[in-house]
Amino acid sequence: MKSESFEIAALEDEFQDALSRWHAEQGYQLDFMALAQARGIEVIESETAPSLYIHAKRRIVLNSGEGVRRQRHTRMHELSHHLLYELDEGAFVQRVERLAHARARAAKDLMEQLCKRGGRELAVPRPFVNDVFLRCPDDAERAMKLAIRCKVSLALAGQRIADLERSRAVWGVVLSKSGIVVDCFGNDVKNAKYKTGVGHQLPYIHALRQPFTHMRLEFFRAPIPFKFSKKQMPRHMQAMADELRGQTIVFFNSRAAVGRAMTPLFEL
Ligand SMILES: [Zn+2]
Repeated sequence: MKSESFEIAALEDEFQDALSRWHAEQGYQLDFMALAQARGIEVIESETAPSLYIHAKRRIVLNSGEGVRRQRHTRMHELSHHLLYELDEGAFVQRVERLAHARARAAKDLMEQLCKRGGRELAVPRPFVNDVFLRCPDDAERAMKLAIRCKVSLALAGQRIADLERSRAVWGVVLSKSGIVVDCFGNDVKNAKYKTGVGHQLPYIHALRQPFTHMRLEFFRAPIPFKFSKKQMPRHMQAMADELRGQTIVFFNSRAAVGRAMTPLFEL
């Protein structure tokens, strides 16, 4: 099993590298329509169909019901499906099919796994990530800057950092103003299963419900809410709120927060 995940991880890395090289040739263009046109891809919108790429027709179908930031991600995701077929003259698809056959896995599932990270590579290009890593030491601020620069969701920016930081556990959540966990991100499979959506609202007394100041990096100690905090052990966390989005991004297990001035929290 170990070698399977190793082989897949290697393929994922190589595909991401190939996407990044291709994107560099396009000047890291973030305008999806310009990229699609240059590839001769037909793009149609649908109110009812889910977004998808149809290789036989070189066509991307986009669900028009998605929010603007979600759309940016979806478009790049579908574009990465196209590129999976076409980069290196189809060598990636051939490798996916060989690997799927050898491991008795559906090639479709493997392709989806590759394109999940691939879409993020195109939506938040590598040089932009490298740039914020050089300028900011803190994940919450890095994610905020990436989300603003690339006009994507906070969760996508957080996930991009998690994708690229393999040597440490990166995970956290995005909260709405009313304390609902709207999204989660992470580079650890068991943590990435964090429950989100309506019905996953933090208790009013939890430290993460405090009113954070717009665009100010906050360091504090608080227990990870819900099932990951059975022991209710306070962890170092960092957060940053964006009033315009009405959302706060929170990183758990923030080693960078150790020794930093803590935000005084309301008493629990
Ligand atoms: Zn897909």
